[in-house]
Amino acid sequence: MIVVMKVGSPEVEIERLSSELKSWGLTPEKIVGKHKVVIGLVGDTASLDPLQMEDLSPWIEKVLRVEKPFKRVSLEYRHGDRSQVVVPTPNGDVVFGHNQPVVVIAGPCSVENEAMIVETAVKVKNAGAKFLRGGAYKPRTSPYSFQGHGESALDLLAAARSASGLGIITEVMDTADVDKISKVADIVQVGARNMQNFALLKKVGAQSKPVFLKRGMSATIDEWLMAAEYILAAGNPNVILCERGIRTFDRKYCRNVLDLSVIPVLRSLTHLPIAIDPSHGTGKVDYVPDMAKAAIACGTDSLMIEVHPNPAKALSDGAQSLTPERFNQLMTQELSVIGKAMGRWQDIQVAVANS
Ligand code: PEP
Ligand code: MN
Repeated sequence: MIVVMKVGSPEVEIERLSSELKSWGLTPEKIVGKHKVVIGLVGDTASLDPLQMEDLSPWIEKVLRVEKPFKRVSLEYRHGDRSQVVVPTPNGDVVFGHNQPVVVIAGPCSVENEAMIVETAVKVKNAGAKFLRGGAYKPRTSPYSFQGHGESALDLLAAARSASGLGIITEVMDTADVDKISKVADIVQVGARNMQNFALLKKVGAQSKPVFLKRGMSATIDEWLMAAEYILAAGNPNVILCERGIRTFDRKYCRNVLDLSVIPVLRSLTHLPIAIDPSHGTGKVDYVPDMAKAAIACGTDSLMIEVHPNPAKALSDGAQSLTPERFNQLMTQELSVIGKAMGRWQDIQVAVANS
């Protein structure tokens, strides 16, 4: 349920109303939108009558029920006001959000050694990326595949952050690692395989770094949004939803099926920013550029693209990794064209001048 306050409602009245609602056993959350203040109500609201509740204060414009199973992540809960995730990085604040410049995250699947991660960081930064990705802890299908260098790779990510000024995004798989990862990462990633690891969702929800929540490979959109709801319910409002391809009957040519229709669907359901990962979505380097372009045309707020200095020798996901040169061409000659046509591209020159 949400209580929409009239424009100019006095702060003391919002406070008074919130205390009254709290005394009823509800959890009121004040959401300050661009134009209005909305009080979101979580708790047992089933027996409440929205019309009667409007009499609680002359400053109430209306009281509405949130009809969806997810509350805090729903667009209704913020009365249509879309949220932005603002992430401080050494190069300045980066904003993920609707109608903001598309934020490109790039880097290797795994952090392999210091030279490769620093080289990749500097190159993707020069091409216009704002974040460096790289796995320290890797979720691998086979226990015999490279599992990531773990804690020592976090130091290498910190070195790449210093060398490039890029923000860092890296995956957390275990509740026991959340604290040490969130010290180094500017954004923590919850991967597809852990989208419904509820203990992990609660733990990343209880820390302050933004969370990049990938869609489970067989997750419905409602399940994905409910996973995000866990993070918001635990206290962290900064969640970015990332589509990375789902499983369907035909995976002969692509590793997954990249579901770009989630962009308009999520727009209609949630206020959270949206990212697309065409690398895991297709699994093949030749298909990544076209899907990245399509994602921008569909209105994505962010892209995650795997880039490796020597894909043929990569310890994981080489087949879907672009070389830094191909990535640079994609950014400066292809994505920039679509991004500008959509009014959502920040030129590298501008980015450098502002840094
Ligand atoms: C990754 O980003 O390297 C990764 C493992 O992604 P996903 O969880 O989408 O498979
Ligand atoms: Mn990968």
